[in-house]
Amino acid sequence: MENFQLLINGKLTPGASSMDVINPANGQVIAECPRADENQLNAAVAAAKAAFPAWSMLDIGDRRQKLMAIADGLEAKTGQFASLLTAEQGKPIKEATEEIIGASMMMRALASMELPEKVVMDDESGKFIEHRSPLGVVAAITPWNMPVTLLAIKMTSALLTGNTVVAKPAPTTPLTSLLFAEMADAHLPPGVFNIITDRNDLGTALTRHPDVAKISFTGSCATGKKVMESGSQSLKRVTLELGGNDAAIVLDDVDPRDVAAKLFAGAMFNCGQICLATKRAYVPASIYDEVCDELARMANETRVGDGSQPDTEMGPVQNKMQFEKVKDLIESAKAEGTIIAGGETMDGPGYFIRPTIVRDVDEDARIVKEEQFGPVLPVLRYDDLEDAIARANDTHYGLGGTVWTSDATRGAEVARQIHTGICWVNAHLAVHPAVSVGGAKQSGHGTELGAEGLEEFTQRHIVYVAKQG
Ligand code: NAD
Repeated sequence: MENFQLLINGKLTPGASSMDVINPANGQVIAECPRADENQLNAAVAAAKAAFPAWSMLDIGDRRQKLMAIADGLEAKTGQFASLLTAEQGKPIKEATEEIIGASMMMRALASMELPEKVVMDDESGKFIEHRSPLGVVAAITPWNMPVTLLAIKMTSALLTGNTVVAKPAPTTPLTSLLFAEMADAHLPPGVFNIITDRNDLGTALTRHPDVAKISFTGSCATGKKVMESGSQSLKRVTLELGGNDAAIVLDDVDPRDVAAKLFAGAMFNCGQICLATKRAYVPASIYDEVCDELARMANETRVGDGSQPDTEMGPVQNKMQFEKVKDLIESAKAEGTIIAGGETMDGPGYFIRPTIVRDVDEDARIVKEEQFGPVLPVLRYDDLEDAIARANDTHYGLGGTVWTSDATRGAEVARQIHTGICWVNAHLAVHPAVSVGGAKQSGHGTELGAEGLEEFTQRHIVYVAKQG
Protein backbone atom coordinates (compact mmCIF):
# COMPACT_ATOMS: atom_id res chain seq x y z
CA MET A 1 0.00 0.00 0.00
CA GLU A 2 1.21 3.48 -0.77
CA ASN A 3 1.65 5.99 2.00
CA PHE A 4 -0.80 8.86 1.44
CA GLN A 5 -0.37 12.13 3.32
CA LEU A 6 -1.97 15.55 3.65
CA LEU A 7 -0.18 18.54 2.19
CA ILE A 8 0.02 21.49 4.57
CA ASN A 9 2.40 24.37 4.02
CA GLY A 10 4.52 22.43 1.55
CA LYS A 11 4.97 19.51 3.96
CA LEU A 12 3.57 16.04 3.48
CA THR A 13 1.85 15.48 6.81
CA PRO A 14 0.24 12.41 8.41
CA GLY A 15 -3.41 12.83 9.40
CA ALA A 16 -4.49 13.37 13.00
CA SER A 17 -6.16 9.99 12.54
CA SER A 18 -6.80 7.70 9.61
CA MET A 19 -9.64 6.15 7.63
CA ASP A 20 -9.99 3.28 5.18
CA VAL A 21 -10.61 3.81 1.49
CA ILE A 22 -12.64 1.03 -0.12
CA ASN A 23 -12.50 -0.31 -3.66
CA PRO A 24 -16.20 -0.25 -4.68
CA ALA A 25 -15.68 -3.19 -7.04
CA ASN A 26 -14.80 -5.64 -4.25
CA GLY A 27 -15.30 -3.94 -0.90
CA GLN A 28 -11.60 -4.34 -0.02
CA VAL A 29 -9.55 -1.68 1.70
CA ILE A 30 -7.13 -0.21 -0.84
CA ALA A 31 -5.38 2.23 1.45
CA GLU A 32 -5.36 3.78 4.82
CA CYS A 33 -5.92 7.45 4.22
CA PRO A 34 -4.96 10.31 6.53
CA ARG A 35 -7.89 12.06 8.18
CA ALA A 36 -7.36 15.67 9.19
CA ASP A 37 -8.74 17.31 12.31
CA GLU A 38 -9.78 20.90 12.78
CA ASN A 39 -6.28 21.96 13.91
CA GLN A 40 -4.87 20.68 10.65
CA LEU A 41 -7.62 22.44 8.72
CA ASN A 42 -6.72 25.68 10.51
CA ALA A 43 -3.02 25.11 9.77
CA ALA A 44 -3.80 24.59 6.07
CA VAL A 45 -5.84 27.81 5.89
CA ALA A 46 -3.12 29.71 7.79
CA ALA A 47 -0.48 28.41 5.35
CA ALA A 48 -2.58 29.43 2.36
CA LYS A 49 -3.14 32.86 3.89
CA ALA A 50 0.58 33.35 4.54
CA ALA A 51 1.49 32.25 1.00
CA PHE A 52 -1.07 34.54 -0.63
CA PRO A 53 0.79 37.91 -0.75
CA ALA A 54 3.87 36.57 -2.57
CA TRP A 55 1.90 34.27 -4.87
CA SER A 56 -0.57 37.00 -5.85
CA MET A 57 2.32 39.37 -6.66
CA LEU A 58 3.97 36.86 -9.01
CA ASP A 59 3.62 37.64 -12.67
CA ILE A 60 0.75 35.65 -14.22
CA GLY A 61 3.28 34.20 -16.68
CA ASP A 62 5.24 32.67 -13.78
CA ARG A 63 2.11 31.22 -12.25
CA ARG A 64 1.11 29.84 -15.66
CA GLN A 65 4.51 28.16 -16.10
CA LYS A 66 4.17 26.34 -12.78
CA LEU A 67 0.64 25.19 -13.61
CA MET A 68 1.82 23.93 -17.00
CA ALA A 69 4.56 21.95 -15.24
CA ILE A 70 1.93 20.40 -12.96
CA ALA A 71 -0.24 19.51 -15.99
CA ASP A 72 2.82 17.84 -17.55
CA GLY A 73 3.51 16.00 -14.28
CA LEU A 74 -0.07 14.72 -14.19
CA GLU A 75 0.07 13.53 -17.78
CA ALA A 76 3.47 11.88 -17.28
CA LYS A 77 1.93 9.77 -14.49
CA THR A 78 -1.28 8.95 -16.34
CA GLY A 79 -0.91 5.20 -15.73
CA GLN A 80 -0.39 5.55 -11.98
CA PHE A 81 -3.24 8.07 -11.57
CA ALA A 82 -5.63 6.06 -13.76
CA SER A 83 -5.16 2.77 -11.87
CA LEU A 84 -5.59 4.54 -8.54
CA LEU A 85 -8.70 6.31 -9.86
CA THR A 86 -10.23 3.01 -10.99
CA ALA A 87 -9.39 1.43 -7.65
CA GLU A 88 -10.99 4.17 -5.53
CA GLN A 89 -13.76 5.39 -7.85
CA GLY A 90 -14.67 2.22 -9.76
CA LYS A 91 -14.76 3.57 -13.32
CA PRO A 92 -13.34 1.41 -16.14
CA ILE A 93 -9.61 1.90 -16.66
CA LYS A 94 -10.19 3.34 -20.14
CA GLU A 95 -12.45 6.06 -18.72
CA ALA A 96 -10.03 6.66 -15.84
CA THR A 97 -7.21 7.14 -18.34
CA GLU A 98 -9.37 9.56 -20.32
CA GLU A 99 -10.13 11.48 -17.14
CA ILE A 100 -6.43 11.96 -16.34
CA ILE A 101 -5.49 12.99 -19.88
CA GLY A 102 -8.56 15.23 -20.08
CA ALA A 103 -7.70 16.86 -16.74
CA SER A 104 -4.17 17.68 -17.87
CA MET A 105 -5.52 19.13 -21.13
CA MET A 106 -8.08 21.16 -19.22
CA MET A 107 -5.34 22.47 -16.91
CA ARG A 108 -3.24 23.61 -19.86
CA ALA A 109 -6.20 25.27 -21.58
CA LEU A 110 -7.24 27.14 -18.43
CA ALA A 111 -3.67 28.07 -17.53
CA SER A 112 -3.25 29.61 -21.01
CA MET A 113 -6.03 32.10 -20.42
CA GLU A 114 -5.52 35.81 -19.70
CA LEU A 115 -7.54 38.26 -17.68
CA PRO A 116 -6.34 41.52 -19.21
CA GLU A 117 -7.32 44.91 -17.85
CA LYS A 118 -10.20 46.48 -19.76
CA VAL A 119 -11.12 50.08 -20.44
CA VAL A 120 -14.81 50.08 -19.59
CA MET A 121 -15.45 53.75 -20.44
CA ASP A 122 -13.24 56.45 -21.86
CA ASP A 123 -14.69 59.93 -22.40
CA GLU A 124 -13.54 63.52 -22.24
CA SER A 125 -13.55 63.62 -18.44
CA GLY A 126 -11.72 60.37 -17.67
CA LYS A 127 -11.17 56.67 -18.04
CA PHE A 128 -12.65 53.74 -16.08
CA ILE A 129 -10.26 50.78 -16.11
CA GLU A 130 -11.27 47.35 -14.84
CA HIS A 131 -8.65 45.16 -13.15
CA ARG A 132 -9.16 41.70 -11.74
CA SER A 133 -7.60 41.15 -8.31
CA PRO A 134 -7.31 37.77 -6.58
CA LEU A 135 -9.52 37.16 -3.56
CA GLY A 136 -7.21 35.29 -1.13
CA VAL A 137 -7.68 31.74 0.17
CA VAL A 138 -10.01 29.55 -1.91
CA ALA A 139 -11.64 26.44 -0.45
CA ALA A 140 -11.96 23.90 -3.29
CA ILE A 141 -14.45 21.17 -2.35
CA THR A 142 -15.00 18.26 -4.74
CA PRO A 143 -17.31 15.21 -5.04
CA TRP A 144 -16.47 11.58 -5.83
CA ASN A 145 -17.61 11.16 -9.42
CA MET A 146 -14.82 12.97 -11.33
CA PRO A 147 -12.33 13.70 -8.55
CA VAL A 148 -9.29 14.54 -10.65
CA THR A 149 -10.98 16.65 -13.32
CA LEU A 150 -12.92 18.75 -10.84
CA LEU A 151 -9.90 19.34 -8.60
CA ALA A 152 -7.76 20.26 -11.64
CA ILE A 153 -10.31 22.84 -12.83
CA LYS A 154 -10.71 24.50 -9.44
CA MET A 155 -7.01 24.48 -8.59
CA THR A 156 -5.89 25.86 -11.96
CA SER A 157 -8.53 28.60 -12.04
CA ALA A 158 -7.76 29.69 -8.47
CA LEU A 159 -3.97 29.63 -8.72
CA LEU A 160 -3.72 31.23 -12.17
CA THR A 161 -5.73 34.21 -10.94
CA GLY A 162 -3.40 34.63 -7.95
CA ASN A 163 -5.29 32.95 -5.13
CA THR A 164 -4.04 30.19 -2.86
CA VAL A 165 -5.98 26.97 -2.19
CA VAL A 166 -7.11 24.57 0.50
CA ALA A 167 -8.62 21.57 -1.28
CA LYS A 168 -10.92 19.00 0.29
CA PRO A 169 -11.88 15.90 -1.71
CA ALA A 170 -14.81 13.57 -0.96
CA PRO A 171 -14.06 10.97 1.76
CA THR A 172 -14.63 8.02 -0.57
CA THR A 173 -12.22 9.22 -3.32
CA PRO A 174 -9.40 11.11 -1.58
CA LEU A 175 -6.40 9.16 -2.90
CA THR A 176 -6.00 10.59 -6.40
CA SER A 177 -6.34 14.10 -4.92
CA LEU A 178 -3.61 13.36 -2.35
CA LEU A 179 -1.36 11.96 -5.08
CA PHE A 180 -2.07 15.06 -7.18
CA ALA A 181 -1.10 17.34 -4.29
CA GLU A 182 2.15 15.44 -3.70
CA MET A 183 3.02 15.77 -7.39
CA ALA A 184 2.01 19.45 -7.57
CA ASP A 185 3.96 20.38 -4.45
CA ALA A 186 7.30 19.99 -6.22
CA HIS A 187 6.35 22.91 -8.50
CA LEU A 188 4.82 25.35 -6.01
CA PRO A 189 6.00 27.49 -3.10
CA PRO A 190 4.91 26.15 0.32
CA GLY A 191 1.34 26.97 1.30
CA VAL A 192 0.10 27.88 -2.18
CA PHE A 193 -1.73 24.57 -2.52
CA ASN A 194 -2.81 22.55 0.52
CA ILE A 195 -5.01 19.51 0.88
CA ILE A 196 -6.89 18.10 3.81
CA THR A 197 -9.22 15.09 3.95
CA ASP A 198 -12.17 14.33 6.21
CA ARG A 199 -15.07 12.01 6.77
CA ASN A 200 -17.66 14.57 5.69
CA ASP A 201 -17.06 16.37 8.98
CA LEU A 202 -14.78 19.33 8.17
CA GLY A 203 -16.89 20.98 5.44
CA THR A 204 -18.65 23.39 7.76
CA ALA A 205 -15.45 24.45 9.53
CA LEU A 206 -13.77 25.08 6.18
CA THR A 207 -16.66 27.00 4.62
CA ARG A 208 -17.17 29.12 7.75
CA HIS A 209 -13.50 29.86 8.26
CA PRO A 210 -13.01 33.64 8.49
CA ASP A 211 -9.78 33.49 6.46
CA VAL A 212 -11.38 31.71 3.50
CA ALA A 213 -12.38 34.32 0.92
CA LYS A 214 -14.04 32.10 -1.64
CA ILE A 215 -15.64 28.68 -1.82
CA SER A 216 -15.62 26.75 -5.07
CA PHE A 217 -17.94 23.83 -4.41
CA THR A 218 -19.13 20.92 -6.56
CA GLY A 219 -21.54 18.45 -5.03
CA SER A 220 -25.18 17.88 -4.19
CA CYS A 221 -27.87 20.56 -3.90
CA ALA A 222 -28.44 19.69 -0.24
CA THR A 223 -24.80 20.27 0.69
CA GLY A 224 -24.63 23.31 -1.61
CA LYS A 225 -27.36 24.99 0.44
CA LYS A 226 -25.38 24.36 3.65
CA VAL A 227 -22.24 25.78 2.02
CA MET A 228 -24.06 28.94 1.04
CA GLU A 229 -25.34 29.33 4.58
CA SER A 230 -21.88 28.82 6.14
CA GLY A 231 -20.31 31.19 3.63
CA SER A 232 -22.85 33.88 4.43
CA GLN A 233 -21.27 34.46 7.86
CA SER A 234 -18.50 36.48 6.27
CA LEU A 235 -20.18 37.08 2.89
CA LYS A 236 -17.70 34.89 1.06
CA ARG A 237 -17.78 34.58 -2.69
CA VAL A 238 -19.44 31.24 -3.40
CA THR A 239 -19.60 29.23 -6.63
CA LEU A 240 -21.85 26.17 -6.52
CA GLU A 241 -21.92 23.46 -9.19
CA LEU A 242 -24.73 21.19 -8.01
CA GLY A 243 -27.00 18.35 -9.02
CA GLY A 244 -29.21 18.04 -12.06
CA ASN A 245 -32.10 16.09 -13.51
CA ASP A 246 -31.30 16.58 -17.16
CA ALA A 247 -33.95 15.74 -19.74
CA ALA A 248 -33.24 14.40 -23.21
CA ILE A 249 -35.95 15.41 -25.68
CA VAL A 250 -36.13 13.20 -28.74
CA LEU A 251 -37.91 14.69 -31.75
CA ASP A 252 -39.99 12.55 -34.07
CA ASP A 253 -37.59 12.83 -37.04
CA VAL A 254 -34.76 10.62 -35.70
CA ASP A 255 -33.64 7.07 -36.38
CA PRO A 256 -34.82 5.17 -33.24
CA ARG A 257 -31.85 2.82 -33.03
CA ASP A 258 -29.32 5.57 -33.54
CA VAL A 259 -30.91 7.83 -30.93
CA ALA A 260 -31.22 4.98 -28.44
CA ALA A 261 -27.43 4.49 -28.56
CA LYS A 262 -26.92 8.19 -27.82
CA LEU A 263 -29.42 8.21 -24.97
CA PHE A 264 -27.83 5.12 -23.48
CA ALA A 265 -24.33 6.59 -23.58
CA GLY A 266 -25.62 9.88 -22.11
CA ALA A 267 -27.36 8.13 -19.24
CA MET A 268 -24.86 5.39 -18.40
CA PHE A 269 -21.41 6.95 -18.81
CA ASN A 270 -19.51 6.74 -15.48
CA CYS A 271 -22.31 4.44 -14.24
CA GLY A 272 -24.71 7.39 -14.54
CA GLN A 273 -22.72 9.34 -11.97
CA ILE A 274 -22.30 12.54 -13.92
CA CYS A 275 -23.98 15.78 -12.95
CA LEU A 276 -24.83 16.36 -16.62
CA ALA A 277 -25.93 12.77 -17.34
CA THR A 278 -29.24 12.22 -19.10
CA LYS A 279 -31.54 11.42 -16.18
CA ARG A 280 -34.88 11.15 -18.03
CA ALA A 281 -35.76 10.78 -21.71
CA TYR A 282 -38.88 12.12 -23.47
CA VAL A 283 -39.63 10.06 -26.57
CA PRO A 284 -42.48 10.60 -29.07
CA ALA A 285 -45.21 7.94 -29.04
CA SER A 286 -44.51 7.08 -32.72
CA ILE A 287 -41.06 5.62 -31.91
CA TYR A 288 -41.44 4.96 -28.17
CA ASP A 289 -41.52 1.13 -28.32
CA GLU A 290 -38.62 0.89 -30.72
CA VAL A 291 -36.41 3.22 -28.64
CA CYS A 292 -37.29 1.37 -25.41
CA ASP A 293 -36.51 -2.02 -26.95
CA GLU A 294 -33.15 -0.86 -28.22
CA LEU A 295 -32.25 0.71 -24.86
CA ALA A 296 -33.12 -2.58 -23.14
CA ARG A 297 -30.99 -4.53 -25.59
CA MET A 298 -27.97 -2.32 -24.93
CA ALA A 299 -28.51 -2.49 -21.17
CA ASN A 300 -28.64 -6.29 -21.27
CA GLU A 301 -25.46 -6.49 -23.34
CA THR A 302 -23.40 -4.14 -21.17
CA ARG A 303 -20.42 -5.80 -19.49
CA VAL A 304 -20.61 -4.67 -15.86
CA GLY A 305 -17.70 -5.48 -13.60
CA ASP A 306 -14.44 -4.51 -11.99
CA GLY A 307 -13.11 -1.45 -13.83
CA SER A 308 -9.55 -2.76 -13.69
CA GLN A 309 -10.50 -5.53 -16.18
CA PRO A 310 -9.92 -4.28 -19.73
CA ASP A 311 -13.24 -5.55 -21.14
CA THR A 312 -15.41 -3.90 -18.46
CA GLU A 313 -17.81 -1.33 -19.90
CA MET A 314 -19.44 -0.20 -16.66
CA GLY A 315 -18.05 -0.27 -13.16
CA PRO A 316 -19.80 -0.26 -9.77
CA VAL A 317 -21.67 2.56 -8.10
CA GLN A 318 -19.00 4.50 -6.25
CA ASN A 319 -20.00 4.09 -2.62
CA LYS A 320 -22.35 2.24 -0.31
CA MET A 321 -24.55 5.23 0.47
CA GLN A 322 -25.14 5.94 -3.22
CA PHE A 323 -25.66 2.22 -3.90
CA GLU A 324 -28.43 2.10 -1.28
CA LYS A 325 -29.98 5.29 -2.66
CA VAL A 326 -30.10 3.99 -6.24
CA LYS A 327 -31.44 0.60 -5.09
CA ASP A 328 -34.21 2.38 -3.19
CA LEU A 329 -35.17 4.43 -6.26
CA ILE A 330 -35.24 1.26 -8.38
CA GLU A 331 -37.53 -0.40 -5.81
CA SER A 332 -39.94 2.56 -6.11
CA ALA A 333 -39.68 2.38 -9.89
CA LYS A 334 -40.90 -1.23 -9.83
CA ALA A 335 -44.29 0.07 -8.68
CA GLU A 336 -44.15 3.26 -10.75
CA GLY A 337 -43.41 1.79 -14.19
CA THR A 338 -42.15 -1.29 -16.03
CA ILE A 339 -38.52 -2.28 -15.71
CA ILE A 340 -37.45 -3.71 -19.06
CA ALA A 341 -33.75 -4.21 -18.31
CA GLY A 342 -31.64 -4.37 -15.18
CA GLY A 343 -33.37 -3.55 -11.91
CA GLU A 344 -31.19 -5.91 -9.94
CA THR A 345 -27.85 -5.84 -8.19
CA MET A 346 -25.13 -8.37 -8.90
CA ASP A 347 -23.80 -11.00 -6.54
CA GLY A 348 -20.61 -10.32 -4.67
CA PRO A 349 -19.22 -7.68 -2.39
CA GLY A 350 -19.04 -4.85 -4.99
CA TYR A 351 -21.68 -2.12 -5.39
CA PHE A 352 -22.87 -3.32 -8.79
CA ILE A 353 -26.22 -2.38 -10.31
CA ARG A 354 -26.97 -3.47 -13.85
CA PRO A 355 -27.99 -0.67 -16.26
CA THR A 356 -31.71 -0.25 -15.70
CA ILE A 357 -34.35 1.00 -18.14
CA VAL A 358 -37.81 1.95 -16.88
CA ARG A 359 -40.70 2.51 -19.30
CA ASP A 360 -44.39 3.49 -18.97
CA VAL A 361 -43.58 5.68 -16.03
CA ASP A 362 -45.48 8.80 -14.94
CA GLU A 363 -44.10 12.26 -14.59
CA ASP A 364 -44.55 12.33 -10.81
CA ALA A 365 -42.70 9.05 -10.15
CA ARG A 366 -39.69 9.35 -7.82
CA ILE A 367 -37.39 7.90 -10.50
CA VAL A 368 -38.38 10.83 -12.73
CA LYS A 369 -38.51 13.62 -10.15
CA GLU A 370 -35.34 12.80 -8.17
CA GLU A 371 -31.74 12.87 -9.32
CA GLN A 372 -30.87 9.15 -9.35
CA PHE A 373 -27.12 9.62 -10.02
CA GLY A 374 -26.75 5.98 -10.99
CA PRO A 375 -27.26 3.61 -13.95
CA VAL A 376 -31.03 4.10 -14.36
CA LEU A 377 -32.94 5.75 -17.18
CA PRO A 378 -36.69 6.39 -17.08
CA VAL A 379 -38.19 6.74 -20.57
CA LEU A 380 -41.32 8.91 -20.83
CA ARG A 381 -43.76 8.95 -23.73
CA TYR A 382 -45.09 12.18 -25.23
CA ASP A 383 -47.61 13.11 -27.93
CA ASP A 384 -47.15 16.84 -28.03
CA LEU A 385 -43.72 18.51 -28.14
CA GLU A 386 -44.87 21.62 -26.24
CA ASP A 387 -46.05 19.33 -23.47
CA ALA A 388 -42.70 17.48 -23.40
CA ILE A 389 -40.84 20.81 -23.10
CA ALA A 390 -43.11 21.90 -20.26
CA ARG A 391 -42.55 18.58 -18.46
CA ALA A 392 -38.79 18.80 -18.97
CA ASN A 393 -38.83 22.25 -17.37
CA ASP A 394 -41.06 21.29 -14.46
CA THR A 395 -38.25 20.79 -11.94
CA HIS A 396 -36.22 22.85 -9.51
CA TYR A 397 -33.08 21.54 -11.25
CA GLY A 398 -31.63 23.39 -14.24
CA LEU A 399 -28.21 21.98 -15.07
CA GLY A 400 -28.21 20.69 -18.67
CA GLY A 401 -30.19 18.83 -21.29
CA THR A 402 -30.11 17.44 -24.81
CA VAL A 403 -32.30 17.55 -27.91
CA TRP A 404 -32.01 14.85 -30.57
CA THR A 405 -33.25 15.53 -34.10
CA SER A 406 -32.32 15.34 -37.77
CA ASP A 407 -33.20 19.05 -38.12
CA ALA A 408 -30.59 21.13 -36.29
CA THR A 409 -32.57 24.39 -36.64
CA ARG A 410 -35.65 22.86 -35.10
CA GLY A 411 -33.43 21.32 -32.40
CA ALA A 412 -31.91 24.71 -31.52
CA GLU A 413 -35.41 26.21 -31.22
CA VAL A 414 -36.36 23.52 -28.73
CA ALA A 415 -33.03 23.82 -26.86
CA ARG A 416 -33.61 27.56 -26.37
CA GLN A 417 -36.81 26.73 -24.46
CA ILE A 418 -35.09 24.40 -21.96
CA HIS A 419 -34.45 26.24 -18.67
CA THR A 420 -30.93 25.06 -17.91
CA GLY A 421 -27.36 26.36 -17.93
CA ILE A 422 -26.55 24.41 -21.11
CA CYS A 423 -28.56 22.41 -23.63
CA TRP A 424 -26.91 20.43 -26.44
CA VAL A 425 -28.43 19.62 -29.83
CA ASN A 426 -27.27 16.27 -31.25
CA ALA A 427 -24.36 16.16 -28.80
CA HIS A 428 -23.75 15.51 -25.13
CA LEU A 429 -21.07 16.63 -22.69
CA ALA A 430 -19.45 18.93 -25.26
CA VAL A 431 -17.61 21.21 -22.84
CA HIS A 432 -14.98 23.71 -23.92
CA PRO A 433 -12.49 25.32 -21.51
CA ALA A 434 -13.19 28.73 -23.08
CA VAL A 435 -16.96 28.49 -22.57
CA SER A 436 -18.22 29.22 -19.12
CA VAL A 437 -21.12 27.10 -17.83
CA GLY A 438 -23.17 26.98 -14.65
CA GLY A 439 -26.47 25.65 -13.39
CA ALA A 440 -29.82 27.42 -13.58
CA LYS A 441 -32.40 27.32 -10.76
CA GLN A 442 -31.22 25.11 -7.86
CA SER A 443 -28.49 23.43 -9.92
CA GLY A 444 -25.97 26.06 -9.10
CA HIS A 445 -24.78 29.53 -8.50
CA GLY A 446 -22.18 31.19 -10.68
CA THR A 447 -20.11 29.55 -13.40
CA GLU A 448 -16.88 27.67 -14.03
CA LEU A 449 -14.57 27.70 -17.07
CA GLY A 450 -14.14 30.47 -19.63
CA ALA A 451 -13.29 34.07 -18.85
CA GLU A 452 -16.42 34.44 -16.67
CA GLY A 453 -15.48 31.32 -14.71
CA LEU A 454 -12.00 32.71 -14.04
CA GLU A 455 -13.47 36.09 -13.10
CA GLU A 456 -15.35 34.38 -10.29
CA PHE A 457 -11.98 33.81 -8.60
CA THR A 458 -11.34 37.57 -8.66
CA GLN A 459 -12.62 40.89 -7.40
CA ARG A 460 -13.60 43.40 -10.06
CA HIS A 461 -11.58 46.47 -9.23
CA ILE A 462 -12.24 49.73 -11.08
CA VAL A 463 -9.61 52.44 -11.30
CA TYR A 464 -10.87 55.80 -12.51
CA VAL A 465 -8.31 58.22 -13.91
CA ALA A 466 -9.50 61.75 -14.53
CA LYS A 467 -8.21 63.57 -17.60
CA GLN A 468 -6.37 66.77 -16.87
CA GLY A 469 -8.27 70.02 -17.55
P1 NAD B 1 -21.91 15.85 -1.58
O1 NAD B 1 -22.62 17.16 -1.62
O2 NAD B 1 -22.37 14.83 -0.62
O3 NAD B 1 -20.35 16.05 -1.29
C1 NAD B 1 -19.55 16.92 -2.06
C2 NAD B 1 -18.39 17.40 -1.21
O4 NAD B 1 -18.90 18.22 -0.15
C3 NAD B 1 -17.58 16.30 -0.54
O5 NAD B 1 -16.21 16.67 -0.56
C4 NAD B 1 -18.10 16.33 0.89
O6 NAD B 1 -17.19 15.82 1.84
C5 NAD B 1 -18.31 17.81 1.08
N1 NAD B 1 -19.22 18.17 2.19
C6 NAD B 1 -20.07 17.38 2.89
N2 NAD B 1 -20.73 18.12 3.82
C7 NAD B 1 -20.29 19.38 3.70
C8 NAD B 1 -20.60 20.61 4.34
N3 NAD B 1 -21.53 20.68 5.31
N4 NAD B 1 -19.96 21.73 3.95
C9 NAD B 1 -19.05 21.70 2.96
N5 NAD B 1 -18.70 20.58 2.30
C10 NAD B 1 -19.32 19.43 2.67
O7 NAD B 1 -21.95 15.32 -3.09
P2 NAD B 1 -21.45 13.93 -3.64
O8 NAD B 1 -22.44 12.91 -3.20
O9 NAD B 1 -20.01 13.77 -3.30
O10 NAD B 1 -21.55 14.16 -5.24
C11 NAD B 1 -22.69 13.89 -5.98
C12 NAD B 1 -23.44 15.17 -6.28
O11 NAD B 1 -22.57 16.11 -6.91
C13 NAD B 1 -24.58 14.97 -7.28
O12 NAD B 1 -25.72 15.66 -6.85
C14 NAD B 1 -24.03 15.56 -8.57
O13 NAD B 1 -25.03 15.96 -9.49
C15 NAD B 1 -23.21 16.68 -8.06
N6 NAD B 1 -22.21 17.09 -9.06
C16 NAD B 1 -22.36 18.30 -9.68
C17 NAD B 1 -21.46 18.70 -10.66
C18 NAD B 1 -21.62 20.02 -11.38
O14 NAD B 1 -20.67 20.47 -12.02
N7 NAD B 1 -22.76 20.65 -11.32
C19 NAD B 1 -20.37 17.87 -10.98
C20 NAD B 1 -20.24 16.65 -10.32
C21 NAD B 1 -21.17 16.28 -9.35
